Amino acid sequence: MVKILDTTLRDGEQTPGVSLTPHEKLEIALKLDDLGVDIIEAGSAITSKGEREGINSITSQGLNAEICSFARAMTIDIDYALECNVDSVHLVTPTSDLHMKYKLRKSREETLKCALDATEYAKDHGLIVELSAEDATRSDINFLMELFIKGVEIGADRICICDTVGILTPERSYDLFKKISEKITVPVSAHCHNDFGMATANTISAIRGGAQECHLTINGIGERAGNTSLEEVVMALYTLYDIKTNIKTEKLYEVSRVVSRLMKLPVPPNKAIVGDNAFAHEAGIHVDGLVKNTQTYEPISPEIVGNKRRIILGKHSGKAALKYKLELMEISLSREEFERVYERIKNLGDLGKYISDVDLKAIIKEIKGEVIERKIYLEELTVVSGNKITPVASIRLNFSDDCKREQLIETSFGVGPVDAAINAMRKALSSVADITLEGYHVRSIDSGTDAFVEVTVKLRRGHEVVEVKNSQEDIIRASVEAVMEGINMLI
Ligand code: MN
Repeated sequence: MVKILDTTLRDGEQTPGVSLTPHEKLEIALKLDDLGVDIIEAGSAITSKGEREGINSITSQGLNAEICSFARAMTIDIDYALECNVDSVHLVTPTSDLHMKYKLRKSREETLKCALDATEYAKDHGLIVELSAEDATRSDINFLMELFIKGVEIGADRICICDTVGILTPERSYDLFKKISEKITVPVSAHCHNDFGMATANTISAIRGGAQECHLTINGIGERAGNTSLEEVVMALYTLYDIKTNIKTEKLYEVSRVVSRLMKLPVPPNKAIVGDNAFAHEAGIHVDGLVKNTQTYEPISPEIVGNKRRIILGKHSGKAALKYKLELMEISLSREEFERVYERIKNLGDLGKYISDVDLKAIIKEIKGEVIERKIYLEELTVVSGNKITPVASIRLNFSDDCKREQLIETSFGVGPVDAAINAMRKALSSVADITLEGYHVRSIDSGTDAFVEVTVKLRRGHEVVEVKNSQEDIIRASVEAVMEGINMLI
């Protein structure tokens, strides 16, 4: 059994451009606890008042997970952590000559003394202490050992080796963790970074070398190229090494999406385990194999991680793929309808279009001669923008009769007119359906100020994703109408 310290809310939040409100921190912490992580590093208490509010709201929940704050080897950091009622501190001291000389401006002796004093102080105040060496993988191993051995003598409950700039290799990781865990009597933890794309491999090697805990983040978010991805390590351990964790794997996809939404960091489609393409199949020969036995082209079933098998229709798809997909969607067609749908998909595929489930439903409706009725109409759109005023947009939406809803009027600000218009739309729709805007791209079709612009929006509702293009001269209308069309397709 390997323990997991999740640092999505600390190292993950240090991703460039990410900042969470206390309420958002709490929402993620609840999800992490539900997922089954052993320790939640909720933040760094010294950072700000808002950060402490966030940590406090998490510690007041009585969660199963141990709640931890990051702290430097300083009493003031530990005092702030204590104020937040955390169970433990992730007590970090740099150990490489580079960090001690340039960052800390302290000698080895001074650094060691500070770290040990801080450990003692935290222990005296009833905290669990995970004593952590920053830049450990570029440190003198003898100095590292001295710190850990003395730290444990003073009462450190766990020690952690940080590969702060991600320069470990799987071989070095195994050797280092083996060497240290043989001499240390408390659990050893691994904290890796993904600068060379090896964080997962290095973390697993650390565990094989003797680490009993690892630091991970959801979606592998974190500074620079990120931290070690939780879903990758958990699933690799479980599937490939037969090593267990307390993670409820079927919740991985959902937690990944919540973190992505709140941190405004999209999950790349090809992301292992939780990406939308992680279990997607397009080429005809693969789908043919899947129909016969899903194991032919899937290492694990998508349901195990809460993801979904997706059959992507495009120019590589054969008839077997369409047939299989229709079965999954529980749609039956006559032979003639089937042929016509297949033709359309081939043509669209040749044009380079990706055909989503929603697109397919629209094609089928059209071929069956059914009208695609719009549920929501844009009645009015006003945008005010100019010099020295904040761009403002207001919209009025109407609903078709069967929705039995009153019209909606909403106003919003934005950094520019398009942003204002989309924000107004988002506000209006938050009460209608849980739809999020995941992507927005603009392309000018030819040159000149009267040129057509093509706006592409990507919208998501649960597992369903649509991509809609709209082109016209007016960028604001193109944007709003693309979003409208996408929403109508999704609801
Ligand atoms: Mn880190």
